[in-house]
Amino acid sequence: MARISRETEAIVLDCFEHGESDIILTFLSRDRGRLSAIAKGAKRSKKRFVNKLELFSFLHITYQSSPNQSLNFLSEAEVHTSFINIRKNFELYTTASIIREFLLIAIREEEADDHLFRLCLWALHNIDQHQHPPAVLTLFLTRFYGTIGYRPDFTACNGCNTLVMRNQRYSFDTTTGGLICPSCSDRGKRLVRLSQGTIKILLSAQTQPLERLHRLKISGKILQEALSLLHDYGRQLFQREIISWKLLQKQ
Ligand SMILES: [Zn+2]
Repeated sequence: MARISRETEAIVLDCFEHGESDIILTFLSRDRGRLSAIAKGAKRSKKRFVNKLELFSFLHITYQSSPNQSLNFLSEAEVHTSFINIRKNFELYTTASIIREFLLIAIREEEADDHLFRLCLWALHNIDQHQHPPAVLTLFLTRFYGTIGYRPDFTACNGCNTLVMRNQRYSFDTTTGGLICPSCSDRGKRLVRLSQGTIKILLSAQTQPLERLHRLKISGKILQEALSLLHDYGRQLFQREIISWKLLQKQ
């Protein structure tokens, strides 16, 4: 069957050796969402792919695709940015690995999402520049859930639809992805207590243009609360543990 040559920008999310000379890669691509490709002879031919097929590298790739085949053939890769600091620093690597794990769980083939692609680049860039990795992770996850269709709602109580009031305490219900006021809280649910400060910053994180997202400063108790909520929400949403999160807790 005839192969078609295509090009796209892509971020390396996974790579492993296959046989004696090949490497199989999984990308988040700008044009086609999740994309898998085999780099034939990549382990032997040092020249063509040397130092390019590394985790988190942002590449421009050329590949050959065949109809009805999900594995493509990588023919060329040019590096836009290799995010080299991420691979040299444990804290940066851990944070980027959590983002990578969420992406590998959620992204699908043929589901291109330019916003998600730009969000991912934004996060890797800011982590690479040591911009307080836990805060970058918080901002990334707040937006990420929205891009995959599970935007948490911080504007009103999910039970009675009353808009959020400043003098009220709220919890977050990870099963519905929304806030719960004290009158609606019910003991059986998985609720995470949230302060007003956390609600306010997460709302801003959802609405800021991406170019200004790095200006939101999150630290201290608000950061802890927000990260814990975003972690619990992800576990509930995907019904599984986020394995790389354990590395974060070891720091
Ligand atoms: Zn309520």
